[in-house]
Amino acid sequence: MPLADIDTRILTACKTAGRQPDDVTLIAVSKMQPDTRVVSILEEGQRIFGENRVQEAQGKWPAFKDRFSDVKLHLIGPLQSNKVKPALELFDAIHTLDREKLAFKLVQEVQARGICPELFIQVNTGEEPQKAGISPQEVDGFIKQCQQLDLEISGLMAIPPVNEEPSLHFALLAKMARRNGLKGLSMGMSSDFESAIALGATHIRVGAAIFGERNTPA
Ligand SMILES: *Cc1c(COP(=O)(O)O)cnc(C)c1O
Repeated sequence: MPLADIDTRILTACKTAGRQPDDVTLIAVSKMQPDTRVVSILEEGQRIFGENRVQEAQGKWPAFKDRFSDVKLHLIGPLQSNKVKPALELFDAIHTLDREKLAFKLVQEVQARGICPELFIQVNTGEEPQKAGISPQEVDGFIKQCQQLDLEISGLMAIPPVNEEPSLHFALLAKMARRNGLKGLSMGMSSDFESAIALGATHIRVGAAIFGERNTPA
């Protein structure tokens, strides 16, 4: 779907929800997409992209960043502690802070670099055993712990379970953010970003609807 059509859908969703379009950031999720498609979206003017693997992003983004200025990259997939350093060299935002060990490692690297990426804590709202994210019961404590470490937390992120109504999970995430005084809400993908906007999403992560289906599931 052309980028302009996605923008129109975002505008309509904002209007329906009585929200300002400027308060919703579109992250174009380029993981597993051929370079030619990524370049065409860059040529259309999109500058904010999401990748879910550090290594894949390291392979393709330095060259794109040389060609197109002002690119901002968001890491939306799991981050291993031993990849924090390269991740901070490449990414402007990390959506998947989900454990104490990673928080400690981030503090070290942030202090060494003197700049902090935008940080979102991933919450496993569906409490799925195979899925990353802090459990809903532990989220308040974990936010406080990160803040005590001087990590500035922008908001919360979630990936709802595949077979459940996503809006229930969006509402739950919004409630957890609100009670902790956090503004950022990273939620909503190709199939459900309008309902995420209705429930307060500030960052939507849209892949297939922009780029077409990925070659391999990721
Ligand atoms: C792949 C991915 C997306 C984008 O999914 P689409 O269905 O292609 O829009 C969003 N968020 C995360 C965490 C992803 O891994």
